[in-house]
Amino acid sequence: MASFKALVIDKSDAGQNVEFRDFDETDLMDGDVTVRVSHSTLNYKDGLALTGKAPVVRRFPMIPGVDLVGVVETSSHSEFKPGDAVILNGWGLGETHLGAYAEKVRVKGDWLIPLPSGLSPHQAMAIGTAGYTAMLCLMALEKHGLTPERGPAVVTGAVGGVGSVAVTLLARAGWHVIASTGRPEEADYLKGLGAAEILDRSELTGAVRPLGKERWAAGVDTVGSVPLANVIAMTKYGGAIAACGLAAGMDLPSTVAPFILRNVALLGVDSVMAPKALRIEAWNRLAHELDHGKLAAMTSTIPLAEVMEAGRKIVEGQIKGRVVVAIA
Ligand code: NDP
Repeated sequence: MASFKALVIDKSDAGQNVEFRDFDETDLMDGDVTVRVSHSTLNYKDGLALTGKAPVVRRFPMIPGVDLVGVVETSSHSEFKPGDAVILNGWGLGETHLGAYAEKVRVKGDWLIPLPSGLSPHQAMAIGTAGYTAMLCLMALEKHGLTPERGPAVVTGAVGGVGSVAVTLLARAGWHVIASTGRPEEADYLKGLGAAEILDRSELTGAVRPLGKERWAAGVDTVGSVPLANVIAMTKYGGAIAACGLAAGMDLPSTVAPFILRNVALLGVDSVMAPKALRIEAWNRLAHELDHGKLAAMTSTIPLAEVMEAGRKIVEGQIKGRVVVAIA
């Protein structure tokens, strides 16, 4: 195939333009593995790239799409051969390196991990970067020594992609999960995923006090800003919050009081540059610990042609759960 179908973002003085195009294979970037993409997903960052709402795209033209599953077509990397099923999350895909909303990618083999047994390509992208990040958050809390006996775990942005998987994983691990959402009408959805309590987002958007009533021992925060500051202020002595997102904003109007008076820890979680061993551990755990029925219940599938519209919705906080983008 000399050319393949791709969604391409260009930038000019007039602004950003996004269109489907036949992309010449010779214009792919350097890499030692070429992958035929079968599925990608929609993550919040993809929405930012598609809408241009934040400068996540660092090179033009860019093919967006930060994660994929596919089959190796050609490889000069020692770990991969044609026919291998692989996953790629992050490493600058869709930001600095031509990404996943295309029939083909050429990437560094070091970025790839094998598709774990027990997961179909569709299930792998139903999990996607969002679900893999939720697992990294759970692993960070566990590494900090936290267990469900210490108290409840709060999840912010619970109806979103990272939030939905986090609720499911924490509940399966035995936590009493308090799901915070701005969409209380989705309470049944969240309870179906394993949430024990629903917390209206408004309870976390008021003025931040240095210390609040101690309500949870652990948390996964996907929104940042005032809600995260309030979550930290309401964390029990010795607890920890895994912070991975900024859907409410990048700021953090907090004080040091929870850290120095309650021994609370804020655990940063990044999925993009996470080392390979951590990725493999996270994906193997996801293959075995994530309930397939619950994953299916939180997942919808769209064709690539609908990804622009879905991208607009995700930055407006209107997407529920996970969205798989079918490529092939
Ligand atoms: P989603 O849009 O699916 O979920 C975000 C959720 O946040 C929304 O569903 C909504 O949940 C809540 N929300 C949206 N806007 C606001 C607001 N203004 N104030 C408070 N809550 C809000 O996105 P993802 O789940 O894909 O990603 C979540 C966050 O995690 C993003 O910021 C993303 O960039 C980040 N992320 C970070 C990664 C990392 O490596 N650190 C990897 C993957 C994602 P509800 O309706 O329930 O309130």
